Amino acid sequence: DTAQPIALAGPLPRRTRQARVTWGSRVVTVGGDAPVRIQSMTNTDTVDAVATAIQVKELALAGSEMVRITVNTPEAAQAVPYVREQLDRMGVDVPLVGDFHYNGHRLLTEFPDCAQALSKYRINPGNVGKGDKRDRQFGQMIEAAVRWDKAVRIGVNWGSLDQELLASLMDANSRRAQPWDARQVMYEALITSAIDSARLAESMGLAGEQIILSCKVSGVQDLVAVYRALARRCDYALHLGLTEAGMGTKGTVASSAALAILLQEGIGDTIRVSLTPQPGEARTQEVVVAAEILQALGLRAFVPSVTACPGCGRTTSTTFQELAKQIDDYLRAQMPVWRARYPGVETMKVAVMGCIVNGPGESKHADIGISLPGTGEAPAAPVFIDGQKAMTLRGERIAQEFQVIVDDYVTR
Ligand code: SF4
Repeated sequence: DTAQPIALAGPLPRRTRQARVTWGSRVVTVGGDAPVRIQSMTNTDTVDAVATAIQVKELALAGSEMVRITVNTPEAAQAVPYVREQLDRMGVDVPLVGDFHYNGHRLLTEFPDCAQALSKYRINPGNVGKGDKRDRQFGQMIEAAVRWDKAVRIGVNWGSLDQELLASLMDANSRRAQPWDARQVMYEALITSAIDSARLAESMGLAGEQIILSCKVSGVQDLVAVYRALARRCDYALHLGLTEAGMGTKGTVASSAALAILLQEGIGDTIRVSLTPQPGEARTQEVVVAAEILQALGLRAFVPSVTACPGCGRTTSTTFQELAKQIDDYLRAQMPVWRARYPGVETMKVAVMGCIVNGPGESKHADIGISLPGTGEAPAAPVFIDGQKAMTLRGERIAQEFQVIVDDYVTR
């Protein structure tokens, strides 16, 4: 037999240095052998400490392991310790990340309580200052990080790229015998800005382990190109995200496409899905999407997964769709308690299928599954547990009875 087995798929290994983002006894490791972390950002005015703390709590409860808040004015910097205090009072120990642009050097120096209350600083090297001021102001922020023992994300964004650096790279490119594409010069500028800033921070005394890099762009292929090169050129932990991904389905799909490619290649130690919430849509949606991406790739598990067929002409009613949603909602609702009580429950697979074609097969692949009757089939719904047919449900109360069976399976 010369047949070779088909290779199993999974993310490629890539070992980065590991950062520690801490608050009190809570330690969120990023990079190295740590799981890919989820983070998010508030959209409240940080000056409103109560509203900001409430949103941070919502994001943390949804699964965000670090939450970034805007620190853009002296008033916002003054409010940061109160945001932290509110959270501590609510028992929420999620680390806070301060987002600084333009005046971070002054705010971190003049408001030491703010500098201490944050667990990580996000510094954008594109707007720390120009010319001689640049290194001095960047140095002041690094000095605060060293003094208070904080992690730093050097976050480059192509919407606010260091224009002096870009101009010098474009100038050098114009002298090449075969000039690069303008896009390639932009990629080079993003990566150079991030890595040179990280090396400068290290030369100023910040441990390389405490540095996380990001180079965000808004196009999927651009992001893939930039992060592949960034990952080749350094071993800093990387924060991954498609910036300004957009609203609704477009933002979700674009982020999923970009992040999936890179995560599969082992690139990315922490992710943010930057969705623009639609009116009435919860800010927490981006955290849910980030978790779904990691779970779909098999990188992490957060909630039991429910497999449901799309339904077709064989489906007798919408019962199975309703049942799939009901079971999904039920499992998610139970997770805060179940997670602590039943370790491993988040890896459970439940199948809810609409007819005999794929129903029994898919149900057998799941830990627990049900195949509802399709058109022309006997009005019976076989239930499979651990791959074996365990019972058959009939009548009007199939949904309720199946929910009890699922509950028993978890708590047995
Ligand atoms: Fe249609 Fe049955 Fe397939 Fe569901 S399992 S999509 S009802 S054929």
